Amino acid sequence: TKFADLGLSKDALAAVEKLGYENPTPVQEQAIPLVLEGRDLIAAASTGTGKTAAFLLPILSTLPRVKGRNRAPRVLVVSPTRELAQQIARTCMQISRQTRHFTTTVFGGTPYGPQIKELRGGTDVLIATPGRLKDLMKRGVVNLSSVEVLVLDEADRMLDMGFLPDVTTIVDATPECRQTLLFSATIDQSIQKNLGSLLNDPAMVEI
Ligand code: AMP
Repeated sequence: TKFADLGLSKDALAAVEKLGYENPTPVQEQAIPLVLEGRDLIAAASTGTGKTAAFLLPILSTLPRVKGRNRAPRVLVVSPTRELAQQIARTCMQISRQTRHFTTTVFGGTPYGPQIKELRGGTDVLIATPGRLKDLMKRGVVNLSSVEVLVLDEADRMLDMGFLPDVTTIVDATPECRQTLLFSATIDQSIQKNLGSLLNDPAMVEI
């Protein structure tokens, strides 16, 4: 399978070219068509498999552009650590340069000021770690009521790190009619029990 056969937009395919990806990885081949269809997804894929582009390419492929900058995020990616959030942000910036969307990243361990200022400016995609996002919600600087697609990345690590209460608070602030994508290195009982109910008839992707 080629990237061009997966149903991605022209802009997304231009991003693939800029990124230098020649062929889709297995998780990309399986996930991209399902995400484009609007399905919820549970994907067993760890870092290194190409999972980041597997969700970002189809999401940005179909996310309509809106004029002006002042808007609430329509895509939310929740990631357990600052390093992972920054890694996702780098790929997202490269793709969104082609698709012409705005990306904002928020994580703990740094001052609130610049992140608040950036959020106030509006964004299309928000990439966040759970603790900082919950704090920003409490301060009333982030509104998740426009979220159309929610990605829970490295879900097993988020549970291991004790983020379930924060993740629950975050998910509860998003609309129920959203599309939800869950990525995890392992899909075990604890994932199913704690997070399974957040998904609606999910397709399963295993590589
Ligand atoms: P990830 O699993 O998303 O952390 O990605 C792991 C690495 O694989 C990143 O450095 C990506 O840039 C790279 N990558 C992702 N998709 C592809 C692809 N289709 N072809 C080549 N490299 C890729």
